[in-house]
Amino acid sequence: MNLVCIVCPNGCRLTVTIDGEDITVTGQKCPKGKTYAIAEMTEPKRSVTTTVRTVFEEAPVLPVRTNGEIPKDKIFDLMKLLDGFVLNKRIKRGEAILRNVFDSGVDVIATSGMLMKEET
Ligand code: SF4
Repeated sequence: MNLVCIVCPNGCRLTVTIDGEDITVTGQKCPKGKTYAIAEMTEPKRSVTTTVRTVFEEAPVLPVRTNGEIPKDKIFDLMKLLDGFVLNKRIKRGEAILRNVFDSGVDVIATSGMLMKEET
């Protein structure tokens, strides 16, 4: 199987060969490529960036993201959850709107301080 490593802008083209329990990776310019390929083959994860609705007129939608990666097969569930979510509390940039989503240890955090006056 061929993959492109997305860990850094080099975008190395990786070739992954699976033989039973053994996973062989070639094409990486650094060890991170092998780690990425093995994770991608065994437990793929992704960060999620989206928006949620709020009750506040001046900012009816707020950009949010996960502060880490969640299992790829949970992305649809998270998007569905966030689709029905309406924020009714003013929060700062970096503050969590949801904690430990799907027991992943990852929070969904605000990426904008539009609901609060930013501290300088
Ligand atoms: S293998 Fe290393 S150098 Fe190549 S894209 Fe991945 S992180 Fe970057």
